[in-house]
Amino acid sequence: MQTQILGLLTPLMALGFAATFAALWRAGRLKRHVLGFAIAYVLFATGYLVTHLLPGDAFYLFHTTQAFYSLGVVVFLASVCDRVGQRLHLPSFFAIYVITALVLGLAITLSDDVGPRLIIVNNGYGAMFAFGVGTLINARRRSWIDVLIIAIMAVQAADFLIRPNMTLLFEQSIPAADYQQSVYYSLIGLVLGVKSVATAMTLICATIVDWMNAVRESGERDALTGLHNRGSFEQSVRNLLPRAQTEGHPLSLVVADIDHFKQVNDIWGHQAGDLAISSFGELIANTVRGCDTAGRIGGEEFCIAVWNCENDPAHRLAERIRQAFARLEHSGVSDDVRLTASFGVATAREGETYKQLFARADEALYRAKSSGRDRVENAERVRLDDATPMPNPELIELKHAAADR
Ligand code: GH3
Ligand code: MG
Ligand code: MG
Repeated sequence: MQTQILGLLTPLMALGFAATFAALWRAGRLKRHVLGFAIAYVLFATGYLVTHLLPGDAFYLFHTTQAFYSLGVVVFLASVCDRVGQRLHLPSFFAIYVITALVLGLAITLSDDVGPRLIIVNNGYGAMFAFGVGTLINARRRSWIDVLIIAIMAVQAADFLIRPNMTLLFEQSIPAADYQQSVYYSLIGLVLGVKSVATAMTLICATIVDWMNAVRESGERDALTGLHNRGSFEQSVRNLLPRAQTEGHPLSLVVADIDHFKQVNDIWGHQAGDLAISSFGELIANTVRGCDTAGRIGGEEFCIAVWNCENDPAHRLAERIRQAFARLEHSGVSDDVRLTASFGVATAREGETYKQLFARADEALYRAKSSGRDRVENAERVRLDDATPMPNPELIELKHAAADR
């Protein structure tokens, strides 16, 4: 009786975890993998209850438990992989299930001993976890919590593959009718309980960390373009500048502003204006590299911190964006109308602060505006008409370079 009551602890705990994941999923409107964790724990609890409540010699006991556990493992691993953008290869899992179910059927007909049955089903779960670990290892994401999850999944795989063989070395034969009174059965209750708590705690922790990161990121993102908002952009560049200086990497800043944007709003409406801003943001996001930082720092004003980039390639980047934007069609705006943008480029000097660097890039942008718009001006390239009247071969070269552009 005592064992019967204690045995209920594991499924009750699993149901508690299922409720926790379901509540987290609902409260935070979290991604589907969190709901997947809840469903997997319900399936584990059901599988365990089936073993616990049905008579040990019921011929369908092992098949029913295996069906619930296998489905639980698949939903569980699919959710863990989904969390890091990976997909399980479901046909492999189906094959493992079918093969183990068939071999299990054979073992049940051939012998009354539950030992071989336990080894067969557990090897199946072990193989499934091993496949899951293989899929998780290929994920690009690798924070400390992701590594911890991979480690826990690997322990699960090892436990399923090793434990039944080890336990059955001590308890060489278990008749089906005595299964629930066996050492193996008491041990499995304990092991499943400990594994269940450790895994669930790790996943609850991962879910909360993911949730907090998503909340923080949404506060740092501009809703219209998905780029950094002004505050977050400035903070990022303030952090990047000293790093670039100590590591000896060049850092360039590109500032961009859509030309005559007030007219876009006046003629085509605010909604068309919004769409144009969002297209510009998308173009910038698709053009910059992953290591660059791009932000919407004003209404139709954008800024890119180009990491490890000298002035010339940063200028060429701005030029590419300028040309691509000038070719874009905009919804809500006449087909024959094209918008343009002006750009200012500056490259950080030694000891320069973000404010000083931005001021120089902005001044270049101002020059682009005042000299006709739809162009890139560069704080590091002195124009001949701004320069001293002294003949300077370098400046003349710059002028030629500018004329070639
Ligand atoms: P310039 O070529 O000198 O940059 O001229 P401009 O008309 O673009 O001048 P300015 O930068 O002063 O005007 C920006 C306009 O952008 C003013 C504002 O009404 C509009 N704007 C700011 N934020 C938004 C927004 O989120 N959506 C839309 N549709 N318009 C915005
Ligand atoms: Mg403007
Ligand atoms: Mg502006």
